[in-house]
Amino acid sequence: MQQLVFATNNQHKLEEVAAKIKDKFKLLSLEDIGCTDDIEETGTSFRENASIKSHYVYQKYNLNCFGDDSGLEIDALNGEPGVYSARYAGEHGNRDANIEKVLHNLTGKTNRKARFRTVISLMWNGQEYFFDGTVEGNIRTNPSGNDPFGYNPIFEPEGYNVTFAEISLDEKNRISHRAKAMDQLISFLSMVDNDKF
Ligand code: IMP
Repeated sequence: MQQLVFATNNQHKLEEVAAKIKDKFKLLSLEDIGCTDDIEETGTSFRENASIKSHYVYQKYNLNCFGDDSGLEIDALNGEPGVYSARYAGEHGNRDANIEKVLHNLTGKTNRKARFRTVISLMWNGQEYFFDGTVEGNIRTNPSGNDPFGYNPIFEPEGYNVTFAEISLDEKNRISHRAKAMDQLISFLSMVDNDKF
């Protein structure tokens, strides 16, 4: 089976993507390839950050690889937290503080429109390709659901009356920003590499 590196160690993302890729590729994480380097997200856009990750792995390990960058854009906060989603409240990965800051900054605002966005950069045999996905929704006034991943408990996707933290992984994999970007990636791979599917 063909190997493909996903330049992340985020278990939530790996699970989501592994469920989509199924047995089409053997998905390897950074840990699987022995990469313990901290690849810094120094870009100012999702595209730039995704590119930094895929290039890093491709150049150092010479393996086909994709990197993603995603985040939450809130209209009433001029697109914040955006590329700073993971570290919005300062401390990397402290999701409770991040949620608190979003809810605080939205106090009194009636426009709760937001979207999750993902951009994927794929380094495939030396060429770079981009894929993206978006899911529109609204920010709740209070968190709901026990899912520990990011802003899931405050994001209600359009057309639902539950949060991302309250829908099944299967359902999220049908509608999420990452799922949409991944679907594009998978259909691209199926075209360039038909006989491997
Ligand atoms: P990353 O840079 O792609 O790891 O994503 C940055 C941050 O965006 C994450 O740490 C989460 O806070 C948030 N995020 C991205 N995707 C999701 C999602 O599907 N649910 C909840 N939060 C997410």
